[in-house]
Amino acid sequence: MDNCCSPNATPQPSSTQPAERIDAFCPDCGQKGKIVAGQTVKSLLSVSLRLVQDSQYYFCRTETCPVVYFNADGSSRFTTDQVRERVYQKEPDRENVKVCYCFYHTAGEIRTSSPAEAKEIIAEINAGIQADQCACDLRNPQGSCCLGNVRRLAGEKIK
Ligand SMILES: [Zn+2]
Repeated sequence: MDNCCSPNATPQPSSTQPAERIDAFCPDCGQKGKIVAGQTVKSLLSVSLRLVQDSQYYFCRTETCPVVYFNADGSSRFTTDQVRERVYQKEPDRENVKVCYCFYHTAGEIRTSSPAEAKEIIAEINAGIQADQCACDLRNPQGSCCLGNVRRLAGEKIK
C-alpha cells in the first residue's frame, strides 16, 4: 500500500466492513478500480456533493477513460471535468499536470530534471512526508501518496 502519508490512520477498509472490500470495475473502461476514501472524492469534486452517494467509491486510473470515480454498481460516476484537479493518470504526458499534489511537482518537471534534481525532489517530498505536511487523501485524486508515481516517472535517473 502506498499509504505513506498517514502511518497512524486506521487501515482502510477494516474487517468490520468486509462487504465493501469487493473488486469494482469501471463502468466505462471495464478496468478494476482502486478503492478510495469518501473524503478523497468529496474534497476533489468540483460539483455539488449532493451528487455523492453513500457508497464505496473507486478510482479509475485508465489513461484513456474519462471516469475518475465510480461506485461498485456503476450508478454513480464522476469524470475528469467534474474534478477540481487535473488527474495525473489521465494525462501523464502533459508537462504541467501535477504528479505530486501536496508539494507541487509537475510531471514535466520530473521528466526534464537531471538525476541530481530528481533525487532532490524525491528527498524533498520525503522530508515533507516525515514532517507530516502532506495531505494526499485530500489533494491527490488517487487518494494516496504520490511517491510511487514520482519514482516511476523519474525511472533510471534515481537508480
Ligand atoms: Zn475507467
